[in-house]
Amino acid sequence: MAENLRWDGQTVVVTGAGGGLGRAYAVFFGSRGANVVVNDLGGGMKGEGASGKAADAVVDEIKAAGGKAVANYDSVENGEAIIETAIKNFGRIDVLINNAGILRDISFKNLKDEDWDLIMKVHVRGSYKCARAAWPHFRKQKYGRVINTASAAGLFGSFGQTNYSAAKLALVGFTETLAKEGLKYNILANVIAPIAASRMTETVMPPDVLAALKPDWVVPLVAVLVHKDNTEETGSIFEAGGGHVAKLRWERAKGALLKADSSLTPGSLLKKWKDVSDFSEPSHPTGPANFMELLEAAQELPSNPS
Ligand code: NAD
Repeated sequence: MAENLRWDGQTVVVTGAGGGLGRAYAVFFGSRGANVVVNDLGGGMKGEGASGKAADAVVDEIKAAGGKAVANYDSVENGEAIIETAIKNFGRIDVLINNAGILRDISFKNLKDEDWDLIMKVHVRGSYKCARAAWPHFRKQKYGRVINTASAAGLFGSFGQTNYSAAKLALVGFTETLAKEGLKYNILANVIAPIAASRMTETVMPPDVLAALKPDWVVPLVAVLVHKDNTEETGSIFEAGGGHVAKLRWERAKGALLKADSSLTPGSLLKKWKDVSDFSEPSHPTGPANFMELLEAAQELPSNPS
């Protein structure tokens, strides 16, 4: 039964677990038998400052409820130290939830290098460093679960968030490849685009909307995706929030096929533009188009009309 999913004897590392979504994940896994590493740098939403208080409070909460947890205060950029906390205290790591994040929202016109670089460091390099440090353990034990955290901003774009959008979509590509490389070692990796009330969203959403978006409503998706028995999902993208959970995927249009010779010009492509974006018979690729097959079919075509 899904409500009985447990993680006894497993170690779950949650980054950015001092508040918001990360806290909800950590408290949940702590209540379901897992050893939890509660990582949080404890700084401000824009990446400023640091404090151990946020992580400590969540560790205390888990322990008060009878769970097992330790705090780690490193930045996710220091992934080795975070994973080492799991190994030193619990002897293993089974689940990595890359969740830590900050915002540096600003219109592209006013964006500075430091706004770009810091967002990339925390979201992309941080997720990479934690996964890289966990990877040898996952491979050795032929078991691992990874959740990376994207955002609707990355999937669809969002005004004032070029830096954050770029970082979040980078994590989709990162996850897709981890999933492919991890498969034969039973390492499953998925990416989520959550929506939840937290300090990140409390200034941009009205109170009644925030009340319907408890971080707790994202937890069940993450739990299912990182359980050892209940899923074979890997390399997938999910949206979750406010009780709604849905998978997203790429869709490829029918596409135009043109003879690849000197008649392939912008003008000949324009003539077939409708086919380029004809989604009436879509396919849902998990890899690039089969170019060898397309190449063979294109050879058969007459030269393109100019
Ligand atoms: P939050 O600010 O409440 O939580 C993020 C946590 O990460 C904070 O506790 C912060 O201290 C920690 N953190 C920041 N930088 C860190 C670093 N370098 N190392 C370690 N910890 C660090 O925000 P949240 O809404 O709970 O966000 C969690 C994740 O979900 C983020 O990756 C965010 O981008 C993503 N997200 C959230 C929403 C939403 O609606 N809340 C939407 C899309 C994506």
